[in-house]
Amino acid sequence: MSAIKCIGILTSGGDAPGMNAAIRAVTRAAIYNGIAVKGIYRGYKGLITGEIVPFKTENVSNIIQHGGTILKTARCLEFKTPEGRKVAYDRIVEEGIDALVVIGGDGTLTGARIFAQEYNYPIVGIPGTIDNDLFGTDITIGYDTALNTIMDAVDKIRDTATSHDRLFFVEVMGRDAGFLALNGAIASGAEAAIIPEIAVEKDQLAETIENGFRKSKNSSIVLVAESDITGGAMGVAERVKTEYPQFDVRVTILGHLQRGGSPTAQDRILASRMGAAAIDALLEDQRNVMTGIQNDQIVYVPFSKAIKNDKPINRELLNTLRILSI
Ligand code: ADP
Repeated sequence: MSAIKCIGILTSGGDAPGMNAAIRAVTRAAIYNGIAVKGIYRGYKGLITGEIVPFKTENVSNIIQHGGTILKTARCLEFKTPEGRKVAYDRIVEEGIDALVVIGGDGTLTGARIFAQEYNYPIVGIPGTIDNDLFGTDITIGYDTALNTIMDAVDKIRDTATSHDRLFFVEVMGRDAGFLALNGAIASGAEAAIIPEIAVEKDQLAETIENGFRKSKNSSIVLVAESDITGGAMGVAERVKTEYPQFDVRVTILGHLQRGGSPTAQDRILASRMGAAAIDALLEDQRNVMTGIQNDQIVYVPFSKAIKNDKPINRELLNTLRILSI
């Protein structure tokens, strides 16, 4: 029998569509295995303030289709201090929580790793971030939904871009990762993507312009990953205004709409599998790992690997985009 009788579950950092499906899966898989569940509200903040309630199966009914997170999320600076984490640990002991399942991105898993080491405490992480920037998993929860949102938005922008013969720079999220920009560009038939991963290798704007992407077309759309490295869509557009003044340039920043919406089937399935796998991990005595998916198989990735390594982009996709945009 596992020593774990009760788990706490929280969502933290940036929200992502599919987090609710993950909360549902963790809760139900735990209860199925005879483990009690406590929902912790507002991420690590709720651990410190004690916003913790027992969860039954009905607490997670009718949520799989909703974006956002019913547990709310927050950024908690106090958890970054040893004093804050001590309060959190005391609360966990008081509540009788034997292990934590945390759903979030890079920051959330970093906090989990530090806490787990400090208190020798079992934590399993689930990658919930639209940015897809965690190493060791092919995809993260929310990424597919965000990609579809970007595709829909760019389809609409293309209607107006074509009517006016305009060059549009569309900024997408990614927090210094180009997955959304690159795959969003392929999915929406955009002409190019400007991403941080290859920014030091070449001048992507100059290359895009020099390749004459406008020659055979009356409109162009370039997706730009938000990042200080790319300069974002505004930075790129400013450059065009001075270096290539012949273009009629417009900028659209998609912003937070990329975080919302009903999760796609892929995100719901991914979240359901990862949620169940998180409980399996705890039952198998795995510690301080993130659930991942590689070649459609569940894997467990040590926190240290998931957060320390830069996840590489698939360079074949860059080539595909270049070929298809002629
Ligand atoms: P995300 O999980 O989406 O990357 P953040 O980077 O905002 O989001 O991190 C979420 C929360 O994780 C932070 O508000 C903080 O409570 C916790 N956290 C992040 N980094 C650390 C750290 N170095 N030490 C302790 N906690 C951290």
